[in-house]
Amino acid sequence: MSMVKIGTGVGTGMIAGGRVHRGAAGDVGHIQVIVDDVAQPPVCRCGNTGCVESYAGGWAVVRDLRDAGRDIGTLNDAVRLIRSGDLTAVRLARRAARILGGAIADAVNMFNPRVIAIGGQLAHAVE
Ligand SMILES: [Zn+2]
Repeated sequence: MSMVKIGTGVGTGMIAGGRVHRGAAGDVGHIQVIVDDVAQPPVCRCGNTGCVESYAGGWAVVRDLRDAGRDIGTLNDAVRLIRSGDLTAVRLARRAARILGGAIADAVNMFNPRVIAIGGQLAHAVE
């Protein structure tokens, strides 16, 4: 089983053979991705550019919403905005989900977990 937590950051863990392997599912949040409509990949908290987290982490969604002119302070504000149906917020959330989904699919190809659990604040942005 793999667990992906999408909160402020993107964290992963894995349970295999009855043991918890922290980070062993691959650090999905820091896989570098190419996004077609982005010429200059954003800088990630890890110092690299273009990581999954730099698009799909909560801090990145908050950054992008602020850049789009939304007056929000926290990830909870971003989640409320997404739930309210704000078109820009929904578009950014969908892009984040697509990017994260691609990275999770890559991890599945490598580790083949039976179950992938997704949690964290952004996982609850859409009911
Ligand atoms: Zn990173």
